[in-house]
Amino acid sequence: MRPVAFEPVTPALIRELKEIVGDDAVVVREDIPEEYSHDEMAPVRGWPEVAVFPGNTDEVSRIMALAHGAGVPVTTRGAGTGLMGGATAVEGGILLVTTRMDRVLEVDEANMVARVQPGVVLLTFAEEMEERGFLYAPDPGEKSATIGGNVMTNAGGMRAIKYGVTRDHVRGMEVVLSDGHVLRLGGKVAKNASGYNLMHLMIGSEGTLGVVTEITVRLLPLPEVLTTLLVPFQSPTDAVGMVPILGKAGIIPQALEFFRDDVLDSSTDYLGRPFPHHGAPAYLMMRLEASSRQEMERFIDRAGRLCLEGGADDVLIADTAERQATLWDARGAFLEALGWTDIDECDVVVPRDAMAEMMLYSDEVSREVGLTFSSFGHAGDGNMHINILRGDLPEEEWIARRDRAMELLYARCASLGGMVSGEHGIGYSKRGYLREHTDPMELELMRRVKESFDPRGILNPGKIIPGMEAEGN
Ligand SMILES: Cc1cc2nc3c(=O)[nH]c(=O)nc-3n(C[C@H](O)[C@H](O)[C@H](O)COP(=O)(O)OP(=O)(O)OC[C@H]3O[C@@H](n4cnc5c(N)ncnc54)[C@H](O)[C@@H]3O)c2cc1C
Repeated sequence: MRPVAFEPVTPALIRELKEIVGDDAVVVREDIPEEYSHDEMAPVRGWPEVAVFPGNTDEVSRIMALAHGAGVPVTTRGAGTGLMGGATAVEGGILLVTTRMDRVLEVDEANMVARVQPGVVLLTFAEEMEERGFLYAPDPGEKSATIGGNVMTNAGGMRAIKYGVTRDHVRGMEVVLSDGHVLRLGGKVAKNASGYNLMHLMIGSEGTLGVVTEITVRLLPLPEVLTTLLVPFQSPTDAVGMVPILGKAGIIPQALEFFRDDVLDSSTDYLGRPFPHHGAPAYLMMRLEASSRQEMERFIDRAGRLCLEGGADDVLIADTAERQATLWDARGAFLEALGWTDIDECDVVVPRDAMAEMMLYSDEVSREVGLTFSSFGHAGDGNMHINILRGDLPEEEWIARRDRAMELLYARCASLGGMVSGEHGIGYSKRGYLREHTDPMELELMRRVKESFDPRGILNPGKIIPGMEAEGN
């Protein structure tokens, strides 16, 4: 694969960028705040030479045409809440930040879709839609992320078990290609069999194929009744073993999360708020939705009975909004409570019935490498977040042990029929593992796709597939 040599950002290019977006929307290297040199967790660092904050599609298009002509790399960034170094400008160049493009352009109630700019914040958007009586179903844990970031990482989250991931809620998009060409893909239509689906290729491409400047998303009716069950178990394998049992019984919760007591304790300590149960080795937490109180009672009864038969200690019911918020707030704080600097995460996804085995194996690996793991996951999807904690190990020792742990975990995941990433993507941090566990022909096809969209290799170089970036990475 041809390595790409990039050009530096020159004073002339900075002047041209200012002409496009205005002086206030361009920040040059020494004035770029530190937070723009990394994303939320990955220890990957990279300083852009210039950060630009475009306000509309035309500006993005002109920036891309300029960068393409000059051979300067462009890394797109939403809110920077990614966990794999995806939004980090590892090759320098231009950081294109979408946060000024934050308008909801249209809510089309008849077609049940909304058109948004990429910098719209997930929380604000979901709340606004709820006020209008709609559910925007994708529900990743970090609500300050942008919809553009969610789309380009194909974010998963809590409601994926029932409603699918972000991909399942995108109907159309506008995307700026690497040379500045503006392309519309999909639309408001509910289905589409018109040739290769380039929109779905864009989704989850982590800024390596184009810059998304507008997204049309699907809206759903709001569920009538919601209740959350908190189910403590003595055995973590019994807890995750419930997932196929519930599914087979026709109980598809809106969310079905798994966690252990250590993660719960650090989260409740971090929030400083009481939690209704402590001390069980493992928990399932499920949010059920129903169209009436009677239907909900039937669901609770059935799910509760199955859990007790499956080894649960108890079934706690949270039926008021306030009680449910107490439970989900604690769940939402799991990652933050672990801290960002001394941690790395293995975000594997395995077939649901292999979760118990993966979990037991991760305990073995933790003992073998002598590192503490803190695990939780979207049990309903077989997606585990195995967080590897550094403790007080010196840098070299930490890296050696962490890498060994990752190797072992990804190898077992592959043998169980799993994938390297369930939802956090590949970015920069996990590309070696993608390479190791992907058929070389599949990687080659990915490279060819990248080359067709971005022949100069300027879009988010160094991410997902190694080979199009400068040598040495
Ligand atoms: C506490 C916490 C909990 C989380 N929980 C979840 C979870 O449950 N599920 C989940 O999937 N993720 C989760 N994440 C990860 C993260 O929030 C998601 O990956 C999110 O989708 C990133 O959005 P962002 O706006 O922050 O994007 P960024 O981090 O800024 O960017 C992510 C990637 O998308 C690209 N990108 C961003 N915007 C565009 C655009 N307009 N055009 C082209 N490329 C673009 C970037 O180049 C980068 O590769 C969590 C993160 C945290 C910190």
